[in-house]
Amino acid sequence: MAERILIVEDEPALAALLADYLAVAGYATEQRHDGPSGLQAALGGDFDLVLLDVMLPGMDGLELCRALRAKKDLPVLMVSARREDADKIRGLGLGADDYITKPFSPAELVARVKSHLARYQRLTGKAAPETGQWLSSGDLRVNLEARRVLLSSQEINLTTKEFELLTLFLRHPDRAFSKDELYDRVWGDEQFGDQSTVTVHIRRLREKIEADPSNPSRIQTVWGIGYRWRP
Ligand code: CA
Repeated sequence: MAERILIVEDEPALAALLADYLAVAGYATEQRHDGPSGLQAALGGDFDLVLLDVMLPGMDGLELCRALRAKKDLPVLMVSARREDADKIRGLGLGADDYITKPFSPAELVARVKSHLARYQRLTGKAAPETGQWLSSGDLRVNLEARRVLLSSQEINLTTKEFELLTLFLRHPDRAFSKDELYDRVWGDEQFGDQSTVTVHIRRLREKIEADPSNPSRIQTVWGIGYRWRP
């Protein structure tokens, strides 16, 4: 069944455009064009995500988000025309929430919606398509559901990002990832880091899973590009 997205946007033409983009990507949408009716729909309807404009008549998006959050746990992707709003959105302290800045391309919008839905579902445990699944490579085994990593049957502790990097590699053995792509896929839109964040995490991960971290046999450096997992 298609995931349902509520679009709260006061410019009808833009709301219709967003609905079109999302329909093409396979989502079902409904629209509201002001704050109060948006809140009512979000609280009453059966939606999987709210796409929420910041500047809205009646009640702005930040206020709406706060009011919604007080009553319901529903992912909200804020749409802002201004960079400064990003600080306010972060200031809401709603860990799972996210924002996208106008103007954006249809592909960017759909990618954000998709990743936000997936991340939210992961956080809430609502969807675990990999439930109970083990990934393995040599003597390294990873249980996705339990988030356990075993190296020669010895448990090793990884941070969340190290774990995400490792599982990404294990799902794509022998594929070269650029640092940019790793950053996008593991850090998503936490816009605080850069490629050096990736380098640091790869180094720490190597220290935990490589027999000789300075001469790695699993996570190999692809010169000028990034890294590749050698199965
Ligand atoms: Ca607006």
